[in-house]
Amino acid sequence: MSQSEESTPAAPSSAIDFIRSIIDEDLVAGRHHGRVATRFPPEPNGYLHIGHAKSICLNFGVAAERGGTCNLRFDDTNPAKEDVEYVEAIKTDVSWLGFEWDGLFFASDYFERLYQFAVTLIGRDKAYVDSLSAEDIRAYRGTLTARGRNSPYRDRPTAESLDLFARMRAGEFPDGAHVLRAKIDMASPNLNLRDPTLYRIRRATHHRTGDAWCIYPMYDFAHPVSDAIERITHSLCTLEFEDHRPLYDWCVENLTVGDRPQQIEFARLNLNYTIMSKRKLLQLVQQQRVSGWDDPRMPTLSGLRRRGYTPESIRDFCGRIGVAKKENIIDMAQLEHSIREDLNKRAPRVMAVLRPLKVVITNYPERQEEQLEARNNPEDLSAGTRQVPFSRVLYIERDDFREDPPKKFFRLSPGREVRLRCAYFITCTEVVKNERGEVVELRCVYDPATRGGDAPDGRRVKATLHWVSAEHAVPVEVRLYDRLFSVEDPERGGDGQTFLDYLNPASLEVLTDCKAEPSLASAAVPLRVQFERLGYFCVDPDSRAGALVFNRTVSLRDTWARIEQRQ
Ligand code: ATP
Ligand code: MG
Repeated sequence: MSQSEESTPAAPSSAIDFIRSIIDEDLVAGRHHGRVATRFPPEPNGYLHIGHAKSICLNFGVAAERGGTCNLRFDDTNPAKEDVEYVEAIKTDVSWLGFEWDGLFFASDYFERLYQFAVTLIGRDKAYVDSLSAEDIRAYRGTLTARGRNSPYRDRPTAESLDLFARMRAGEFPDGAHVLRAKIDMASPNLNLRDPTLYRIRRATHHRTGDAWCIYPMYDFAHPVSDAIERITHSLCTLEFEDHRPLYDWCVENLTVGDRPQQIEFARLNLNYTIMSKRKLLQLVQQQRVSGWDDPRMPTLSGLRRRGYTPESIRDFCGRIGVAKKENIIDMAQLEHSIREDLNKRAPRVMAVLRPLKVVITNYPERQEEQLEARNNPEDLSAGTRQVPFSRVLYIERDDFREDPPKKFFRLSPGREVRLRCAYFITCTEVVKNERGEVVELRCVYDPATRGGDAPDGRRVKATLHWVSAEHAVPVEVRLYDRLFSVEDPERGGDGQTFLDYLNPASLEVLTDCKAEPSLASAAVPLRVQFERLGYFCVDPDSRAGALVFNRTVSLRDTWARIEQRQ
């Protein structure tokens, strides 16, 4: 097996998880009329993150594999926190991930129908208008150990509830004066069934319906009804909704005839060294702890995209982590593995020096230059070769030289010979320092017989360095990103700490004096490359003509693990 075949991502669709098994059984049994209809239902109150990608890959994935449909539906029932900016960003991200929705819907499209459904429930004595204060409602609800008590308004006449509900809609009452509640069971062990609120009065301008409404349905009502309206067959959601399932079922049983959607819960994605709550991510943005939702350190899809992640790598990651019922925490290294593997196959190799040290090849003619041939990708010979200019003055990486090399340091040092990638062997003959004693320049000699990187006499060197020709180099800025948080579980709290206390102060290092080979002069988004020996990098949208900016997507190996071991 060749190396590239070995690293082909496991085909995610071939794995049968418990959800796919249920759906396949339903298909065999002819349930839901042999249909599969799913939906991805984000609330437009923030940007999508990598956790959402798991849900997107699942919902769109099973629908595509089983010849079904998948809708994108915005659960926009909470106007105070929602915004069109988020709607647009979510659409962009879902498309970027590579999925096409069948229907594009908004829960707000259903406000009139939801209202009519609520009226139907009142008419059937399944809902009532409660006039207790929010505090009293809470007190009457009871606790996990104490049963709830019926509201004194629970048995108000249907006609009165109908009248009050219509007047709630008409704007006759202030916020909080009344709510509409389902009439289920105040003694239920499941708190979600203790007459949950279905509607509340909230004067807030909605990003789509404006001021048409001053009452808004609760998620637990809007969600099952929206699923039923769209004839969803399998309503896939995360485990925290397991306790809500009886309410979900109550809503669809009381409001629909025939085929009913079925809710199935799966474990959400948890990743170490990051957070995934939109509310907390919004805090990072608002407090300017990051540059925005698409800051390359954010776990958002827009952040990962800007960081250089490919949609393929994220889909591969979601396929690898699979779908199960049990909560777990995935190591960030797994996400990094997926992007490394993808870019290893397709990112062209180029040379760039991040912290330049000047090297003068004293025996190379002054005004001479030549073009050397370099392979674009040793993993993919069809990627071909390019010409890289070589001349008398070069830059190498400052780290690649040590005046007093420790034992296992095989790179350049006084008197030592090393190879310059695709160029020549060079030997360091002199170290030039400034008045502060810092090394500012190396003088070297090259061996013309080693052109292309091999010595005809078979002599060997222990290191190969990357380099750029000073005269031809393109100046670039490079942003080195590291994990946003310095601890595995930023939400662990303790000692009055919050996730904000665990931000990694070294999560961004900006290098402004980097030098790249001239083939990058016209690089533009979305170019992703490997800087040889350093890692994978991509062009950042901040780039301007003559002022390119590169982001480090990921290093070549998992250096983080090594750093942690050392500590
Ligand atoms: P957050 O807590 O990050 O704000 P949310 O659940 O409130 O997430 P929604 O917009 O309601 O965000 O989520 C849309 C869909 O994505 C839901 O079906 C939800 O279950 C799913 N989802 C959200 N977070 C994750 C996650 N970490 N892993 C898997 N699915 C997720
Ligand atoms: Mg939610």
